Amino acid sequence: MSYEIDRDQNVEPSLKEMAGKALEILESHSDKGFFLMIEGSRIDMAAHENDPGTHVHEILEYHETVAVVRKFIDKHPGTVMISVSDHETGGLSLALQKIPNPIYRWYPDVISRIKNSSYILAQRLKSYWDDDRTSFINKTILNDGLGINDFTQDDLTYLNQNLTSQEYIYYLANMTSWRAELGWATHGHSGVDVNLYAYGMNIEAIRGNHENTEIGEFIKNYLNLDLDSITLELNSNNDSFHLSNVNISNYNADHLEHYHHL
Ligand SMILES: [Zn+2]
Repeated sequence: MSYEIDRDQNVEPSLKEMAGKALEILESHSDKGFFLMIEGSRIDMAAHENDPGTHVHEILEYHETVAVVRKFIDKHPGTVMISVSDHETGGLSLALQKIPNPIYRWYPDVISRIKNSSYILAQRLKSYWDDDRTSFINKTILNDGLGINDFTQDDLTYLNQNLTSQEYIYYLANMTSWRAELGWATHGHSGVDVNLYAYGMNIEAIRGNHENTEIGEFIKNYLNLDLDSITLELNSNNDSFHLSNVNISNYNADHLEHYHHL
């Protein structure tokens, strides 16, 4: 999936549209009820890149997806929605100390001017080596893509080099975070508590602070599942459930990197 900020709506459906379609299909084809997991997975990837513009568009799309599911629940009493993350990524804070004495401010307008992900802009930098590369960086990447016009000659010199995709991404994303005065603690995952939301029937059982395994317990009890027998069935009947049977050579480095992130 493209990042939401880059997505061409004529080519690719949004997370919200796919979630709505999945609910529609499951509702009309299942007389036993269903379990659906909807993953806003690119929130994590944008946070790995410390790219605040891309990050917020992924989060807003997730919020709209939650609104679609809530509407479904309002029409179907007896269903429940749980929204939770397996971890925080990036250690984002609305704070960045740039000088010895902290100043309490941040600039959301910097974020609202961003038109593309640093990821897509990095791909364009990787593939454009015409004679007018400097003006391409100036206009297409910084002005149009990031909404930045106060860049320096040092920025242009750095971006004019033949760098890795990740080096371009980190540099571009930092240009926006720095101007917006947003701080990131890591390009990895953090250990902070994550938010837990629920909507629908009997959700009082998961109000408050919980270990992540208790979410699974809640779902098991809510759906009255016998997980041991389901596990036995999965293990015995279908080879495709076993990752060890997948020919690993069919997976490129991007896939393996993605598994690593999960
Ligand atoms: Zn991750």
